[in-house]
Amino acid sequence: MNGHDPRVLIIEDEIQMRRFLRTSLLAHGYLPIEASTGGQGIEYVATGTVELVLLDMGLPDLEGTEVTRQLREWTDAPVIVLSARTDEKDKIGAFDAGADDYLTKPFAVGELLARMRAARRQVVPRSREKTPAVFAAGSLRVDLDAGVVFVNDDEVHLTPIEYKLLVVLIENVGRVMTHQQLLKGVWGTRYTSRAQYLHVYMGRLRTKLDVDPDHAKLFVTVPGVGYRLRGNESTQRPAR
Ligand code: CA
Repeated sequence: MNGHDPRVLIIEDEIQMRRFLRTSLLAHGYLPIEASTGGQGIEYVATGTVELVLLDMGLPDLEGTEVTRQLREWTDAPVIVLSARTDEKDKIGAFDAGADDYLTKPFAVGELLARMRAARRQVVPRSREKTPAVFAAGSLRVDLDAGVVFVNDDEVHLTPIEYKLLVVLIENVGRVMTHQQLLKGVWGTRYTSRAQYLHVYMGRLRTKLDVDPDHAKLFVTVPGVGYRLRGNESTQRPAR
């Protein structure tokens, strides 16, 4: 692999939770670093050696969403929120701020490790500024320069809005995009409350593009939160 244990920052004010995370990470080849406040956590990330952040929502100084927002201004390190809050609003707030994933406490170590692996896989394409000129996943191929879309080598006609929505998802492949982020990306800031537009257009994209029974579904619904486009790596695995 890359020759060193990945450094994972735990931002959490509860000592017991920190101890549980530290022990679990050490046992699975990660190098944990600990911060008990948001401010201290941001300082650690600023050293540039943190590869992933596990973030509690309720911290003594800053809200987890605020910590995420500040981190997102200058780092691509994946942020996984760990929270006892099950409210959908908290979840959406975390994703809107730029979190990569959200895990509700209590959770199993195996689940956490799986989410961490997934978040670290996604970081490579995201930190490269340019989207490649051709995007391919499963049976879908999109020539982004020419604006042409193929499914199994057959050209598929998309309306301008459908195409724009597809491009926003491609630019953020692997990431959960909230309804807000997608509406803003496609229709602009005036339409961020029109979630029904989005459901209609996502339905059309699915009908036109997500048609290959041999591949896992390309467009993943995250209930109450948004949608995620799978990258090629995940579409090649057999669907469960
Ligand atoms: Ca807390």
